[in-house]
Amino acid sequence: MSASSLARETADLLARLGVADSAHAGGSLAVTSPITGERIAEVRETDAAGCDAAIAAAEAAFRTWRLVPAPKRGELIRLFGLELRAAKADLGRLVTIEAGKIVSEGLGEVQEMIDICDFAVGLSRQLYGLTVATERPSHRMMETWHPLGVVGVISAFNFPVAVWSWNAAIALVCGDTVVWKPSEKTPLTALATQALFEKAAAKAGAPAGLSAVVVGGRAIGEALVDDVRVAAVSATGSTAMGRAVAPRLASRFARAILELGGNNGAIIAPSADLDLVVRGVAFAAIGTAGQRCTTLRRLFVHDSVYDSLLPRLRKAYASVTIGDPREAGTLVGPLIDKAAYDRMQAALQKARADGATVHGGERAREDLGGNAFYVRPALAEMPAQTEVVRTETFAPILYVMRYTDFDAALEAHNAVPQGLSSSIFTNDLREAETFLSARGSDCGIVNVNIGPSGAEIGGAFGGEKETGGGREAGSDAWKAYMRRATNTINYGRDLPLAQGVSFDV
Ligand code: NAD
Repeated sequence: MSASSLARETADLLARLGVADSAHAGGSLAVTSPITGERIAEVRETDAAGCDAAIAAAEAAFRTWRLVPAPKRGELIRLFGLELRAAKADLGRLVTIEAGKIVSEGLGEVQEMIDICDFAVGLSRQLYGLTVATERPSHRMMETWHPLGVVGVISAFNFPVAVWSWNAAIALVCGDTVVWKPSEKTPLTALATQALFEKAAAKAGAPAGLSAVVVGGRAIGEALVDDVRVAAVSATGSTAMGRAVAPRLASRFARAILELGGNNGAIIAPSADLDLVVRGVAFAAIGTAGQRCTTLRRLFVHDSVYDSLLPRLRKAYASVTIGDPREAGTLVGPLIDKAAYDRMQAALQKARADGATVHGGERAREDLGGNAFYVRPALAEMPAQTEVVRTETFAPILYVMRYTDFDAALEAHNAVPQGLSSSIFTNDLREAETFLSARGSDCGIVNVNIGPSGAEIGGAFGGEKETGGGREAGSDAWKAYMRRATNTINYGRDLPLAQGVSFDV
């Protein structure tokens, strides 16, 4: 496919998805496709005044939206889910072109959006509060959950649309309004998603301004973070970004939902089913070219199975098809850009200096374009968990380490700054339960006999330590998007005062 035809296909997709030409032609933000490294659009950036206007509109819309009954708010999300179903092929294709994900992953990302819409529709009838036993006669105590306000969503390139939907679908049924700053590397899929949302909003007769996209880099993100009209910010990205954002939010007492870097590990115990391990590890470590927050990056393999597992893994690594993510059969698409490639090579160099034996990791498919960066996924056999292993490098590198003692492996597993996802492969009940227990994995996601990568929207998603502590999507994650009021009602004729105080006036 020639340079201009990829740009043309992008323009056609955007037109079909309802995005005006003026939004993505002649603007100051160049968008490139990692598939070939060529420019596919020039998006108009939002300036400070535009960001201010979007927040003002969201704040105004909130005043109306918070009064709409929650199940009616759910109806908007139901209609949005229908728009996503109808546009799944086009939006999935755009994810592939803009983020470089293989076809099934691009479509899978849209399916996650559909799934969270379904979840949010059900949730819109389940925003429960408690009734609490009170110590006072003829009184009732209860809690009520109210809409919070404007929610800012800052998202990363690697899940260009699903992460927004995890936040937005829930926030909108909770009665909030949303202003979204997508990654500057993936604004096109955000504009398309917004266009689909506006279609649904028009059909639902919803007020204007419920959702807006502001396009730009760090400065626009900071504008959202610092604006007192934005009640909560859900920020997904690197730990470095979270470190910049968290104190600014704290300084104005805004709510923060932080979904930051991971450095996910798996323990392969002596009793592990190695057939499961090979498939689970390959999927979790190689999928999305190692560019998932939940990508498997550290493998602790028991000495007794190391020498039988490693050749099988090396074979799997050597056999994956690397190439254009649009082609059937491709399992590994491109890295997002040259900077990602350079960081990967630097990490491998450090690993070698630490004594690693590295298999793979070299550049591949240079025929697809000088500015496109494909790599063979790397397996790095490490003598120890050195500093480079403790650092998240957002690329397909799997560091493999031997262990003999389970407790020591568990200790090493937890001895990293991040705490997102983890797993153990074992058929030993004691090991499995220990891994899940209070002295087990310290991550937000802890799995047995399934890799750490990917998550179902029904569970709460997020992690501990430098991963930021936020939770999104399922379970009771909705509570972060609402404010809780504790109510006491006196239906008696007396007014018993607290602490036995008698205040006779
Ligand atoms: P990034 O940190 O470079 O950028 C993420 C977003 O933050 C972008 O929209 C960017 O413009 C914005 N941003 C950066 N600095 C900012 C600042 N100071 N103030 C406000 N906004 C700012 O991340 P990336 O390269 O796009 O994504 C990869 C990273 O995201 C990896 O570390 C990955 O683990 C992480 N991630 C985490 C999750 C999760 O749920 N925990 C999910 C996806 C990605």
